[in-house]
Amino acid sequence: MQTHGYAAYSKDTPLAPYRFERRALRPNDVAMEILYCGVCHSDLHTARNDWGKSQYPIVPGHEIVGRVTRVGAGVTRYKVGDHVAVGCMVDSCMECDLCQRGEEQLCRKGCTGTYGGRDRITQEPTQGGYSKHLVVREEFCLRVPEGLDLARAAPLLCAGITTWSPLRTWQAGPGSRVAVIGLGGLGHMAVKLAVGLGADVTVLSRSKDKEADALALGAHRLLVSADAEAMRAASSSFDLIIDTVPVRHSLKPYLPLLEIDGTLVLVGQIGPLDELSTVPLLFGRRRIAGSPIGGIRETQEMLDFCAERNILPDCEMIRMEQINEAFERMEKADVRYRFVIDMASLADSD
Ligand SMILES: [Zn+2]
Ligand SMILES: [Zn+2]
Repeated sequence: MQTHGYAAYSKDTPLAPYRFERRALRPNDVAMEILYCGVCHSDLHTARNDWGKSQYPIVPGHEIVGRVTRVGAGVTRYKVGDHVAVGCMVDSCMECDLCQRGEEQLCRKGCTGTYGGRDRITQEPTQGGYSKHLVVREEFCLRVPEGLDLARAAPLLCAGITTWSPLRTWQAGPGSRVAVIGLGGLGHMAVKLAVGLGADVTVLSRSKDKEADALALGAHRLLVSADAEAMRAASSSFDLIIDTVPVRHSLKPYLPLLEIDGTLVLVGQIGPLDELSTVPLLFGRRRIAGSPIGGIRETQEMLDFCAERNILPDCEMIRMEQINEAFERMEKADVRYRFVIDMASLADSD
C-alpha cells in the first residue's frame, strides 16, 4: 500500500515529505488511517540520531490514533470503522515468558519498535505515525474506548503508559505519596494519572514558577528543590518518585526524599546520570529503578481508565508541516504539554 508522511533524511536536515510503502495485509493485520499522532522526545532524539542507531529515511511517531480501514481475513477483534491506537511497539516474539505474561515491552527477544525497528518477517524497517496509513498486527492494536477524545488521546500511547506502568507496578493509590520530577509530556501525565489513582501527589521543581501549573494539573503541592530547608523537611516522605527528566541530571537531591523502602523510577533519561552516592540507598534501603513503556494489556487498562475518568493529556494541535518548528520548541521545553499532529493537515501532494 502506497502511503506518505514526513521523514528525517539525515541527522541535521529538517523533516520533509516522504512517500513509501506499507506492507500488504497479512491475515492478522489491521490497516488504519492515522488521524492524530503525538510528538514524543524520542521522535526528536531519533530524527537527530542522538542514540546513534537511526537509519534514514525514518518516519517518527509512536503515539498513534486512527480509524480501521481494512482488516486481514483472520482478524477477530477489530472491524472497519473502529477507532484504534498504536504505541511504541508493533510486534514481539509472543512466545517467551514475558510476552506470555503480557509484558511484550520486555520481550526476551526484543520487541519491535513502531519506527526504527525491523519487521520480524521481512526485516524491512518499520516506519512510524507521521504518516497517513499504518499496518499493524491486531495483537499490538489498542481499542480507543468510546468517549475518549480522539484528538487528545494520542499522547497516552507513550507518555501515558510510560508513567502509568510504574504507578501500577509500585501500587500508587489512596494512601501512597507520589512525587513527580519534571513537568513535561511525561511529568504532566504522571501527575494526572497518580491523582486519578487516588495518590497524594507532589511536583518537584527547581523554582516556584510551575506551582500554578502543577496545581491546575491536580497535584496537591509543589516542592521547590532549591529550597534546602523545605527539602530537609520533606526527607523520607515519598513512597514513589517518578523521575521524568529527559536529560543527564543528578539524583542527589531526590534520594533522601524517599521513604524507607521507597523507589525512585527513571522513565525519562536514556543514558548516563551524574555520579551517584550509595549513602541514601544503603541507609534508607531505598531503590532506584527504571521502567520502559508498558505491555499491551496494561496499555489498554490505562486507556480504559482514562476514558472512565476523563483523564486527557494537555495538547497543542499542530499541522504536519509545523513539525520542525515543534521540535525546536520542544528543545526549549516550550510546550504545554504535548504536541499532537492533526494528520488531516498532511496534504495529498506532500
Ligand atoms: Zn515516546
Ligand atoms: Zn517475547
